[in-house]
Amino acid sequence: MTPNTRQTDMKILISNDDGYSAHGIEALVDALAGCGELMVVAPEVNHSGASNSLTLNRPLSVRTSSKGFYIINGTPSDCVHIALTGLLGEKPDLVVSGINNGANMGDDTLYSGTVAAAIEGHLFGIPSIAFSLTSKGWSNLDAAARIARDVVQRQIDMPLKGAPLLNVNIPNLPYDEIKGIQVTRLGKRHPSQPVIPTLNPAGETVYWIGPVGLVQDATEGSDFGAVEQGWVSMTPLRLDLTHENQLTHMSHWLNAPINSTSQVGADDGA
Ligand code: MN
Repeated sequence: MTPNTRQTDMKILISNDDGYSAHGIEALVDALAGCGELMVVAPEVNHSGASNSLTLNRPLSVRTSSKGFYIINGTPSDCVHIALTGLLGEKPDLVVSGINNGANMGDDTLYSGTVAAAIEGHLFGIPSIAFSLTSKGWSNLDAAARIARDVVQRQIDMPLKGAPLLNVNIPNLPYDEIKGIQVTRLGKRHPSQPVIPTLNPAGETVYWIGPVGLVQDATEGSDFGAVEQGWVSMTPLRLDLTHENQLTHMSHWLNAPINSTSQVGADDGA
């Protein structure tokens, strides 16, 4: 099979969390034209921060945009889930999410709807890639879209084994000023800033969730560090949250006499 034949045969599902009309998904769709057969299933409205939530308390409807995108009145995970479990005739070869309006690095990945859409593909055994542009606004969206195409093309030409889950963050720079792509680990933020109380029209106090915390770990090898230095960050993710190092210690803790003065449990700060 020639590379060209393989490209034509590729089926790529595209979603996002900013909603079907966001500039980021339009740029991604345009950039991936020619990489394969593109199918877009995206939320009706912005669901940034939706994480992996599925809508279970009401049915979901699907309509089609003037560009042929499927629009679902649900979350990013709903979109990919429905696409993979009934809406699309065939299973795609790749799930791509983004391009998000803002970074999804470090702890952000747990909250991100952009990453969640990719996770849903990964859970169904499909290679999945989330793309985010690290600064809000779209000043270098064209560069981010070119990077996304480069990455997707590499996966098409030289597929990673299994169902990799990749989190790609692209610095807000012109294409020629981006140094390249660095493989990274997740960095860390400080805890979020305080909620912002305000009054609703009834005079009741309501709260806006506050801004994200400042970056804590942007050291060498981290996603924050790479982007800060002008590199694209690519972090391979996994979903198993089990803290392997603590399994033995937890067993000791559970079996120790309740008034024992000895401290048990791994204290590695994580
Ligand atoms: Mn978003």
